Amino acid sequence: MKKMTHSAIDDSHPHKQLELPLSIKPALAASKAAGSNKLVRQLQARREVFDDLRFTHKVVDPSLEHHTNSYDFAPVAYLTLAADSSIVDANQFAECLLGIPRSSLCRQRFAKLVSEESQSIFNAFLNKTLAIRHHQSCKVALQIAGRLMWIEIKAIADPMLQTCRAAVSDITEHKRTERQLELATLAYQAIDEAIMITDADNSIVAVNPAFTTLTGYTEEEVLGQCANLFKTDCHDSRFYLSIWKALRKTGHWQGEIWNRRKNGEIYLEWLSINTNYDSNGNVLQRVAISTDITDRKRAEETMWKRANFDQLTCLPNRYLFYDRMQLAIKQACREGLPMALMLLDLDRFKEINDTLGHDMGDSLLLEIARRLNHCVRETDTVARLGGDEFAIILNEKEDCVGIERIAQSILQQLAEPLLLNGQKVNISASIGITFYPEDASEIEELMKNADQAMYDAKEAGRNHFSYFTRAVQNASQRQSSLANDLREALINNQLQLYYQPIMELASGVIYKAEALIRWRHPQHGWLCPTDFIAIAEKTGLIVEMSDWVFKEAARQVWLWRRYFDRRFQISINGSPMLIHCASDHKNSWFEHLQQNGLTVDSIGVEIDEGLLMDTSHDVSNMLFSFCDIGMPISIDDFGTGCSSLYLLQKFHIDYLKIDPSFVGKLVDQSNELMLCEAMIAMAHKLKIKVIAEGVETHHQCELLKKMGCDFAQGYLFSKPLSAGAFEALLAKRE
Ligand code: C2E
Ligand code: CA
Ligand code: CA
Repeated sequence: MKKMTHSAIDDSHPHKQLELPLSIKPALAASKAAGSNKLVRQLQARREVFDDLRFTHKVVDPSLEHHTNSYDFAPVAYLTLAADSSIVDANQFAECLLGIPRSSLCRQRFAKLVSEESQSIFNAFLNKTLAIRHHQSCKVALQIAGRLMWIEIKAIADPMLQTCRAAVSDITEHKRTERQLELATLAYQAIDEAIMITDADNSIVAVNPAFTTLTGYTEEEVLGQCANLFKTDCHDSRFYLSIWKALRKTGHWQGEIWNRRKNGEIYLEWLSINTNYDSNGNVLQRVAISTDITDRKRAEETMWKRANFDQLTCLPNRYLFYDRMQLAIKQACREGLPMALMLLDLDRFKEINDTLGHDMGDSLLLEIARRLNHCVRETDTVARLGGDEFAIILNEKEDCVGIERIAQSILQQLAEPLLLNGQKVNISASIGITFYPEDASEIEELMKNADQAMYDAKEAGRNHFSYFTRAVQNASQRQSSLANDLREALINNQLQLYYQPIMELASGVIYKAEALIRWRHPQHGWLCPTDFIAIAEKTGLIVEMSDWVFKEAARQVWLWRRYFDRRFQISINGSPMLIHCASDHKNSWFEHLQQNGLTVDSIGVEIDEGLLMDTSHDVSNMLFSFCDIGMPISIDDFGTGCSSLYLLQKFHIDYLKIDPSFVGKLVDQSNELMLCEAMIAMAHKLKIKVIAEGVETHHQCELLKKMGCDFAQGYLFSKPLSAGAFEALLAKRE
């Protein structure tokens, strides 16, 4: 029995760890029982051979095979290969490892089992093994029945037999792990995320290239350093404590953190830390993975700002305002302190914007925003809802007094003239105020209330503030329902003209009348013009309504000219709104009269004295256009405003209607008497005729007659009458 030399022994596996194959154990036990010395010796000899095999895994003396079948029992796959790789011999373990019965194994070439990509390696290995006396090894892949298997072959040549003996071991699992490790390393190197590994003492033990890109530190610079190298003072100590607390408790933390690069720059990263433990639960390493999110964060912030703030003034926009309102309501609820909402609208901003240009308009809005912010506390919100509309949320207001003070100070601040491009501009605002929870509990309702109150403030003459009240709200609800009804009224013939006679004082003849509108409302009955003219004005329905009045009056005057007096003239009331679209009407009205064979003096227009003083182009244009076509113009309610003689002459006024407030107080030697006398004298000088309105007594009538007043209108002669009643009155007088 030849023994292997120790130089050939691979002692990487300590002998004591090896065990006998199971199949030998019963044999030994049996031999002891039999007490057969011969058998024991034989078995010991086999065992020695076996041990040798276990030690070497590589070389087996072929002669051993004759003495023992330990070769067969070895837990290592052994093969004997010929020069052309034919399998001359294989042991049991080889059969098992390769999954091919020995009988068929021994008839084929081993190279046939070797996968294509390993062929050249295997061939080179076999050639070298046969050529050299030293043992060789290689790793190749086998392809057996569609299954890939990695093996390591260690072999030594038997020059006598031109074969080699090979020990084969399965390294598929090892190869797989190796591959995974390779991939992991590749990923570690190539990944965009910065990776930093620290030990249990928080010292850096490894970083990847992305880490260097992110922080500017190379691996050499940071290895062994404490991981707090990148710390900034953007976070307080509580923040870092909370991270450590989480790491100690769960081994994990993730979140946003501001860190510092090598060049001092501060950046925001998304950091995720995980911990590796040993089997006793002690920290081995912590792996920190981070990405720079500074740009993303900035972009998000910009987006958020754009979505929530007004670009021009940088005030919260409508969107953020609603958010703040919700918060304010919640807070008011929690603390039991009321909250106030103010809506503010600049008076005549459109005019300023149109005259000064949009750039100036923008500068003005900016200045307004600045002043508004100045008037409130930091906890309050000033928002721009759009155009020239602002909203202010005033938190924790215990009383109205505080609110009133703020409203007043806003009006005062805004009233301060401002310089725009060296030009002095005056601006004022109207403010509506409502309270939570007193007036409403929902945002929408609060908004409506404040809007209503603001409208009220505008009505009160601008540069005012108004509180929301229920009474005002009811009135406004009634108004909006009337506005809807008025649309129906125009379609359904619910409107009717009444006529009030105007008597010529000298002759006592009636050939003039004022047309006064009435509305037979299906629910509310007869309505006076004072109930709905303002609504018609506000909704713009006045234009359509006036057109109807004009045509109806024209139809009537045609009849009365024909049947009563060829001079007959009906005056209609012109509203401010109508005046502004007079140029549109002028031509159609003129045509309408012509088509119906009426002269232009058959219909006159009454215009309020106040309107005469409106210096806007619209009004002068309208007055001129009526003058142009020769339509008689009366100045209504004269004496209540302060129109100038100049204006009366400029616009070729035909009639002055002395306001009833003078006529009503006409008694001998009264101031009103003197005033009326002066008005009549002045009008006559300008070739304007005078109509006294609201004449109720004979005495008033006598006095007016004496003063030389031309016409009189009032209950003394008749109340406004329907066309039928009016005709009856005329017929009776004739
Ligand atoms: P107004 O133009 O000053 O019309 C005269 C108003 O005084 C009429 O009221 C008339 O009924 C009333 N009145 C006439 N004589 C006397 C009198 O002796 N004593 C008293 N206390 N009152 C007298 P009414 O019809 O209610 O019209 C009110 C206002 O409505 C009018 O005032 C006018 O400004 C406006 N209005 C009436 N009809 C129309 C219309 O068709 N279009 C427009 N835009 N406004 C109209
Ligand atoms: Ca009138
Ligand atoms: Ca009048």
